[in-house]
Amino acid sequence: MKIPFLDLQAQYLSIKQDIDKGIQKVIDDLAFIGGPYVKAFEKDFAEFCGVEYAVGVSNGTDAVFLALLACGIGPGDEVITVPNTFIATTEAISMTGADIRFVDVSPKTFTMDAEQVEAAVTPRTRAIVPVHLYGCPAHMTDLQAVADRHGLKIIGDAAQAHGARFQDRPIGTLGDVATFSFYPGKNLGAYGDAGGVVTNDAEIADKVSRLRNHGRATKYEHDQEGYNCRMDGIQAAVLSAKLPYLQQWIDQRRKHAATYDTYFNEHPSITIPETDSDHYSVYHLYVIGVEDRAAVQNHLSAQNISTGVHYPVPLHRQQAYAHLGIPGGTFPVSEKMARQTLSLPLYPELSEEQVQYIAEQALNAI
Ligand SMILES: *Cc1c(COP(=O)(O)O)cnc(C)c1O
Repeated sequence: MKIPFLDLQAQYLSIKQDIDKGIQKVIDDLAFIGGPYVKAFEKDFAEFCGVEYAVGVSNGTDAVFLALLACGIGPGDEVITVPNTFIATTEAISMTGADIRFVDVSPKTFTMDAEQVEAAVTPRTRAIVPVHLYGCPAHMTDLQAVADRHGLKIIGDAAQAHGARFQDRPIGTLGDVATFSFYPGKNLGAYGDAGGVVTNDAEIADKVSRLRNHGRATKYEHDQEGYNCRMDGIQAAVLSAKLPYLQQWIDQRRKHAATYDTYFNEHPSITIPETDSDHYSVYHLYVIGVEDRAAVQNHLSAQNISTGVHYPVPLHRQQAYAHLGIPGGTFPVSEKMARQTLSLPLYPELSEEQVQYIAEQALNAI
């Protein structure tokens, strides 16, 4: 049985009419950049996230960048984040001119560890960027307590976590601002690049919406320089067509994840993220930790099952950050994850039988 890691075609075919119609309307109206289709999506996505404001932007990297800028982050400031994330998180920090400071993650949820944040704060620290990795929310109440003690802003990188909840509260309502990616492979994916910034703070929302559009107050008035970080009308139309299905897709992902859990829960040589009722994960990825990852990956590949690794090199060990001079061994949890994690196929269109088959094949190699 051939099982790809991701099947965007299956999803498209299931809602082809909605998508095609949405795209055609944007073309008919020549509403290519910004405009009514972006506004309509922003309204619907804000409602989905349970927040006052959603601002559509160019991609998930720019979403983090603009959210940081809107929180006043710039040169001379320090921003704390984690090394087990996609490089976009730290690129966005550097783009503001601020300095990156890493802390390790919790071995239970693989998300930012509040105690380590507490220890890493310096007089220059202005913000923290927890990453809701694989769709699992970080411990936002612990992080908020640290942030409150030190006057730090929280910008949640929710690129993998549309619809996630912590202690029953939607992820976008926690911290000061949350950012999303709508990269095609994300849980809510456009047909090109797109991103979003959500917040309950009117000032942050206003700043982001000006910064994304050349600092425009009106068509010909620029209070300051901004950037070209706008969302396309066609992407907004695709996202609006998909949004009504997102919760059922999340339900299906969670169901498949629960099936995987039954196979891997009690296994002595497999680690999976701990789940509890505080963390409502939307399972962007289903990730197991195994000693001999290559053996499992090769065995699955021989059975035509594609897998991924998120991420094989923690950011502090990337060449791009060699100048930070952080030696190996500094962040043991992230480094162990980089050696051991293996992402199994997980998407709504998989059948229960396929999930069982993948799990059985994985167990055969362990
Ligand atoms: C995908 C991703 C991003 C970047 O999103 P783009 O839309 O590709 O720019 C940022 N952070 C994390 C954690 C991601 O997974």
